[in-house]
Order: sequence, then C-alpha cells, then structure tokens
Amino acid sequence: IPFLFYSQFVQMSCVSDSSRLNKFLRERYLNLPQGEFCQVTYVWIAYCGMDLCYKTRTMDFTPKTIADIPEWDIIGQTEGFSTEMLLAPVCMFRDPFILDSNKLVLCEVLKNTREPAESNQRNSCNKIMEKVKELHPWFGMEQEYTLLGVDGHPFGWPRLGFPKPQGTYYRCVGADRAFGRDIVECHYKACLYAGIKISGTNPEVMPSQWEFQVGPCEGIEMGDHLWMARFLLHRVCEDFGVVATLDPKPMTGDWNGAGCHINVSTVQMREQGGIEAIEKLRKRHAEHIRVYDPNGGEDNKRRLIGCQVFSSINDFSAGVANRGASIRIPYRVAQNKCGYFEDRRPAANCDPYAVTCAMARTCMLEGEE
Ligand code: ADP
Ligand code: MN
Ligand code: MN
Ligand code: MN
Ligand code: MN
Repeated sequence: IPFLFYSQFVQMSCVSDSSRLNKFLRERYLNLPQGEFCQVTYVWIAYCGMDLCYKTRTMDFTPKTIADIPEWDIIGQTEGFSTEMLLAPVCMFRDPFILDSNKLVLCEVLKNTREPAESNQRNSCNKIMEKVKELHPWFGMEQEYTLLGVDGHPFGWPRLGFPKPQGTYYRCVGADRAFGRDIVECHYKACLYAGIKISGTNPEVMPSQWEFQVGPCEGIEMGDHLWMARFLLHRVCEDFGVVATLDPKPMTGDWNGAGCHINVSTVQMREQGGIEAIEKLRKRHAEHIRVYDPNGGEDNKRRLIGCQVFSSINDFSAGVANRGASIRIPYRVAQNKCGYFEDRRPAANCDPYAVTCAMARTCMLEGEE
C-alpha cells in the first residue's frame, strides 16, 4: 500500500494539483499592501550542486544594493546531515512573482569557518575571473531544457506512443509542434522584469524541448545570471504545474539531448580577432569534458554520441559554421576575423561557474596552469 501511495502511477494528470488552485483568490492576497516591509528571498545551490534552494525573510526597509542584504546563518544539508552554513549574498534581482519591492538574492554557500562549501564553485571561479578581468571576458550561454508533466512523461507527448519524429519542431510554430510555449513566454518576461540578461529563446529539435540564452555577461556575472534564470524557470513551471528538466538526454533513442553551449570572447577577440584559444582547448579536451556536466563527464556520455549535431565525447573538433564540431566559429566571425567562438560540449545541467572557470583558465590565463 505505501508503494501505491508514493508511486507515480496513481498520478492521474500531467499537471500538478497546486497549479489548479484558485489563482484569482491568490491575486487578491498578493495585491494587499505590505507597507515598508520587503520580502527577500535568498536563493542558493544545494549541496548536490544541481538543485536550487530558497528561504525568505522580511526586512524592514527596501535594500538598494547587494551590500544592504545581510549574510544569513541557517541550518543546511550536507550529504544528508544537518549542518550550520552561511549564506553570503552576491547578486540581487527584482522578484517577478510577488513583485516590487521584493527581492531575489543569489548567495554563495560558506561553511561556518567561512570556507566555501563543496558545492560552491562560484568562489574559485570568481578568483580566476579577477585574474583575467583586464581581458573583459564575455560569455553567452544557451540553456536547453525539456518540459515534463509531473508524471515524468514529456509534456504534450501522447500517453501511448510517440509524437511525430524530429524534423519539424526546431524553431517552429503550431499546436502540433510547440508544446508548452506559455512557459517560455512567461519565463522570458519574468527574467526581463528581474533584471536577468536574457537575450532570447527558441523551440528546440525535440518536441517539448526549448532554449533560452543569457548574455553576453562579463566574468562571474554569467554564472550568477544563468543560475537565477534557472530558478525562475523552475518557479514559472511550478505555476503551470509542469517540470523543467536539465537532464542532458531525457529521452533515449532518436531524440536530441540537451546542452548548454557557451559563447566566448575577450576584448582582443572582439577587436582584432585571433581566436588562438582553439588550440589551447584542443589540448585540454578531456579536462573540459570532466567539468562540462556535474558528474565528471558521465552525463555527457549519453549526449555527445558523435552524430550530425553532436560532437563525440572522445574527440575534439573545430570548424567554421560546423554544428557537428566541439567548437564552432560562426561564419561571420571567420570572415571578419574577429568576434567569438562557441563551445558546444557543455551539458544542459552543467554548472556555469565551473564551465566559465575552465574556459578562462584554458583560454585566458597566460603561463599559469
Ligand atoms: P546559436 O546560433 O548557437 O543557436 P544563440 O543565438 O542561441 O546561438 O546564442 C548566442 C549566444 O552568444 C547568446 O547568449 C549571446 O549573448 C552570445 N554572444 C553574442 N555575442 C557574443 C560575444 N561577442 N561574446 C560572447 N558571447 C556572445
Ligand atoms: Mn524550521
Ligand atoms: Mn542557440
Ligand atoms: Mn540549441
Ligand atoms: Mn549554439
């Protein structure tokens, strides 16, 4: 009997019960004035390095900058045990759910000794970004994701069998091709309201798969904005009663995986060209693959299988306008001999701090390791 209660088989609908609560009533309460008080939601990366957590507190004034947000000692979870940890605010956004003047604040997690927690990749990333800041590194990341019902089945797919094979879904419009557009549009608006540097969206190759782009962002800002954009995505999906997964290969077989391409440039690349970074990246292919997903390359094994649009996990390749290569130089960039390059290897569930850190280390740190 307990098994039946917890089993997903008893879930009769693909959207959650919460999403069907009375949203008109909700609006009435949300419109109540809140005086000078401000709700500040602290957001941080869980100890597993993939999930996001949050906890909200009231402040009796409206914070103007991140410096106005105090650190917060809380009981957290590490390896299943409760431990004390410290949330150190690093980046503040407007809250698009309960609206101004409420805030969302991304935090680094520190141990009570003030050392970074194991899941905290931002701390070391930031040190590298400080070292290369004269190069003004810009990053743009393309976050792909897949919508699932709460039953775990891809959202909008037939209960039995499969939708039409891939080929008509990429960047397409129409009820028979675009599954879950409401989420994409609402997430986009929420990001703009919040102050996230979102630069676009598009439907992807697999039905129910979508992408949004964040950037260009300079240095550490890339990880900060992408992580908060992910938080907004999960939160918007919750309102609609569905789930966004960042799994790099949610469906086995002839269905595309999901990546998180990273576009990279330095001030030199943008001005006089010379994308010598490619040779440096070639030498460190294996090392990069290890940080391009949260499981040391294991997740990407399911995705980078070496076919038309996916490079092989074992080989490094680079090419102009080549979407099957590890690194793509956009055609216009090759012609102008300046601009940026794209690394197509990172998996959808990568930690952008780890990816931008590896990129800066390999391509921008002279003479050091
Ligand atoms: P694709 O053609 O690979 O699908 P997208 O349009 O999805 O490309 O994403 C391009 C990304 O590149 C965006 O995130 C954008 O912000 C970023 N970008 C554009 N110019 C630069 C640049 N000079 N340096 C780094 N990133 C850039
Ligand atoms: Mn409690
Ligand atoms: Mn793209
Ligand atoms: Mn894409
Ligand atoms: Mn791309």
